[in-house]
Amino acid sequence: MSDTEIPPRKKPMKYIFVTGGVVSSLGKGLAAASLGTLLEHRGLNVLLQKFDPYLNVDPGTMSPYQHGEVYVLNDGAETDLDLGHYERFTNCNLSQLNSLSSGQVFERVISKERRGDYLGKTVQYIPHVTDEIKDHINEVTHQNPEVDMLITEIGGTVGDMEGTIFLEALRQFALDVGKENVCFIHMTLLPMIKAAGEIKTKPTQQSVAKLREIGIIPDIIVCRTEHDLDEANRHKIAMFCNVRASNVVAFRDVKHTIYDCPLDLRRDKLDRLVCETLHLETPSPELEDWQSFVQKVAHPQHEVFIAVVGKYIELQDAYKSVYESLTIAGASNDTRVNIVRIDSEEIQLKGAEETIGLVHGILIPGGFGERGAEGKILAAQYARENNIPFFGICLGMQIATIEFARNVCNLEGAHSTEMERECAHPVICLQEEQEGISDMGATMRLGASESILCAGTKSYDLYGQNDRITERHRHRYEVNPDYTEQLQEAGLTIAAVSAEGGLVEIVEITDHPFYVAAQFHPEFKSKPNRPHPLFDGFVSASVSYRHR
Ligand code: GLN
Repeated sequence: MSDTEIPPRKKPMKYIFVTGGVVSSLGKGLAAASLGTLLEHRGLNVLLQKFDPYLNVDPGTMSPYQHGEVYVLNDGAETDLDLGHYERFTNCNLSQLNSLSSGQVFERVISKERRGDYLGKTVQYIPHVTDEIKDHINEVTHQNPEVDMLITEIGGTVGDMEGTIFLEALRQFALDVGKENVCFIHMTLLPMIKAAGEIKTKPTQQSVAKLREIGIIPDIIVCRTEHDLDEANRHKIAMFCNVRASNVVAFRDVKHTIYDCPLDLRRDKLDRLVCETLHLETPSPELEDWQSFVQKVAHPQHEVFIAVVGKYIELQDAYKSVYESLTIAGASNDTRVNIVRIDSEEIQLKGAEETIGLVHGILIPGGFGERGAEGKILAAQYARENNIPFFGICLGMQIATIEFARNVCNLEGAHSTEMERECAHPVICLQEEQEGISDMGATMRLGASESILCAGTKSYDLYGQNDRITERHRHRYEVNPDYTEQLQEAGLTIAAVSAEGGLVEIVEITDHPFYVAAQFHPEFKSKPNRPHPLFDGFVSASVSYRHR
């Protein structure tokens, strides 16, 4: 969009900055997202974003062991999984602009320096790097004139050297836009020393002192705590940290589900405190829809066990959006989805019957590389032959295709060229124009694109008989067009193709209770009370399978 097309903003943007102290993994992303939920329910138009102080330009090339899931946005940006929370907890539309790493900031500063943009000046952390960060916030403000509030989560922990430059930029920024437009929220941990039976506030005091050293005085302190926060500790934190006692908010360990978080933060009126700090008058939030969703997650009628077969199964966060999508679809089917995490190499070793013989549904999520592929192929075969609901996503869809080619079309040696370059039947391969490109990012099909659904298929019905859908992608390999006719003749239905290029987007087996596999990533589009149709259909089929 060109500058002239953006209408001027009517009211000043309000800014909330969420920092973290004491330890990492406090659930800052969840707290920021939950605040977004509450503020939206107060009628505000909210946008969330994340600043990450690492030097990678984006997490696209980072290992799941380092980073958990890569969350893909509509515009193809590969981002932190916290952005997944933001999109699930709110209605905001995120873009590349909403994810900023130190790597990006420095990349921009260095290329400006190379271009001579700094006119020969010495290029310094202050003001050049801080200006770059502030310019970024101003750009987001400018690009989103309809947004009332921008919530920015700053990754890392206060006191880390690498995050300090972001905090310095925020300190300056608050002066630039006026303190009445900025709310600093600092999140800390209140550890419980079991032997003494006491909650300790010292780490919070020291972390706030660290923040004040930089020149930032938090308006609100959110304390992550196992239990409730008693009045004595609330007052103690208030006194040492220079805030009112009412501005010390407890963020308790969640009981049933992360979707409880907004309701928990509402107990200490976090949303009202933010609005007061920012001089905004808004009505109290109506949270019935959210409450009823949480109720459905916490106390469902049915229960199913669904195997998720992958190679990063031991990692809590590697398939985050897949797990959340199953929970969300579970709620809409009045069902608790128990996820059974299966390492695909385990299936290779012990066989499918032994490892996944008892589940009510089998899901193979996205992935890269050869390790564990044969185990996934066994899982797909087991689901197909035993009429167990099956859902394949991205690599999971490619695996389903390979399995079908090998065992139904009798194409011995069928594989993906990702796993075996010179295989006898490359049913999954690169498109010709991608061959020979070595830059890891360059060949990926990334972000939202349109597909055409075929009437009469299960997917078409699940999508409410829409023939055009838009879904997000992140992959390099495709179903080889040379084999589609053969696959279809043997009974693999192509239920959707890309609007551009006619590439295979969904395959199904018609003569099966539920065998659907998609080249795109539906898990990035589930929201509470709005399950993704394919997840919804899969969970519903798993419930039917259980009660068959
Ligand atoms: N590795 C496969 C590809 O690049 C699948 C990617 C994925 O599952 N995200 O095409």
